[in-house]
Amino acid sequence: MKKLALAILVVVCGSLLWFARHSDGLKQEAAIQAASMAGNVASAVMGRAESERVDQLHNVPVTVEKINDYIYQARGIGNTQVITTTQGHVLFDTGISIQAANQLKALREVLPEGDITHIILSHSHADHIGGVKFWQEEDTEIIAHRDFAEEQRYLTELEEYFWNRNRLLFPFMPERPQRGMFAYGGVTPDHTVADWELRRFEQGGVVFEVYGTPGAEGADNLVLWLPREKILFSGDTFGPMFPQFPNVFTMRGEKIRKPAEYLRSLKLMIALQPELIVPSHFSPVSGVDNTVGGIQRMHDAVKYVHDQVIAGMNAGKSVYQLMNEVTLPEHLALTQGHGKVSWAVRSIWEYYATWFHFESTTELYGVPARSVYAQVAELAGADALAEQAAQYRQQRQCLHALHLLEMALSAEAGHQGALREQQRCLEVLLEQAKVLNNTYEVMWLKDQLARTAARLADS
Ligand SMILES: [Zn+2]
Repeated sequence: MKKLALAILVVVCGSLLWFARHSDGLKQEAAIQAASMAGNVASAVMGRAESERVDQLHNVPVTVEKINDYIYQARGIGNTQVITTTQGHVLFDTGISIQAANQLKALREVLPEGDITHIILSHSHADHIGGVKFWQEEDTEIIAHRDFAEEQRYLTELEEYFWNRNRLLFPFMPERPQRGMFAYGGVTPDHTVADWELRRFEQGGVVFEVYGTPGAEGADNLVLWLPREKILFSGDTFGPMFPQFPNVFTMRGEKIRKPAEYLRSLKLMIALQPELIVPSHFSPVSGVDNTVGGIQRMHDAVKYVHDQVIAGMNAGKSVYQLMNEVTLPEHLALTQGHGKVSWAVRSIWEYYATWFHFESTTELYGVPARSVYAQVAELAGADALAEQAAQYRQQRQCLHALHLLEMALSAEAGHQGALREQQRCLEVLLEQAKVLNNTYEVMWLKDQLARTAARLADS
C-alpha cells in the first residue's frame, strides 16, 4: 500500500516537474507544490512507523519557531534556519527533501520580503541539503566545507549500498527516490571553508562567521557563528542530540570520523563561548552552563576514550579487550543513544591501525572463519552446538552462544533448536541494549529477531 502510494506520487510529481521544467518562471513554484504534496504523503507513511527513540527524530512535524526578532527556525526531521537582514536572507541548512518544501511554505508566511542571498550548509547529509533546490535563487551563494563535494561524491556513488543498510535500521523510511525532486546530491558550493578556517561577511548589520569544524557527522562539517549575538548554528557537529556521546562510527556505514580533528573542532566552539546553540535537529539550547558545559563534556568524553584506546594499543591489548574495558567515568557520562563508546573504541583503533590486527594469518586473506562453520557443525553436530549455546546463555555469555549457533545454522539453516536458542540470545541482547538504548543497536537486534522468527515459521 505504501509502495503503491509513493509510486503514484513519483509519477504525478515527475509529470509536474517535467511540465515545470518546460515553463519558464514556474519551475521552482511547481516543484515546491509537488514536493509539498509528496512530502505530506511520505511523512504520513513514516508517521505510522513503530519504533522508539528514532521516532522522536523522524516524526518531528514542520513548525516554525522564532529564535529572536530576525532569526527563524523551521523545525522538522532536519531544521531550516533563516537569519533575515535588510539586505536579504541567509539560510543555514535546508532540512530533508520530503519536508523541505513544507518548511519553505511555512517560513514564507512569517518571513519579511527579501532575496535568499546565501545558503550555508553544515555538511552534505541528505537531511541538511534537501531543500537547496527549492530555496536557491539565481544569485544565491552556497557556502559549504571544502570537503563537501568529496563527501557528496562518495555518498552518491555508494547510495544504493547505504540505502539498503538504512532501510534495515530505519524500516519506516519511504522507498529510495532514484531521481526527481527527492533525489540526493547535485549541490555545488560557490564558496568553501577548509578545516578550522574562518569565512566572514557582513550583511544588513549582521556579522556572519563560518568555521570549518570536521568531525562528528562527517569530514565536511561547518558551523555558523554570529559573534554579536553569541549564537552558534551547529548543524550536526554535535550529532542529533546535545550533549551526547558522538557517532565516531555509524552502523549505517560511512567513513570513520577523525577523532583528533573532532576534538580540535570542539575546542574551537568552546573558545567561542556561545550563549545559544541552534542545532539542525531538535530545539535550541541556551545558557553558557548548558552550551559550553555540554561541549566541554563531549570533548572530555571523546578525549578520554581516545586516550584509553591509544594507551591500550601501546600496552598490547586487543581491540576486543578494549571494547569491553573502556567505559566513560561517571563525571563524563553522556547519552549513548546515537554513538556508542565500545564502537568508538573499535573505530578509533581501526582509524589509526586499519583492519589488520596482527592476530592471525587468515585475517590477510579472503577466507573468513565462517567458511568452515558448516564443516565444524557437521563434525560436532548441530544439536550439540545448540545445547552448548544454551549453556553459554545460562552463564550469561550470549555472544559465545551466538558464535556456536551461527555454526549450527550454517550446516542446517532451519534447525529448530538452534533457531529457538538464537531467538532467546537475541532477546537477552535486546534487553541489555535497552539500558543504553542506542537506536542503531536496538534496531539491528529487532531486525535479527524478526528474521529469526520468520525462519522459525518457515522451517
Ligand atoms: Zn542530520
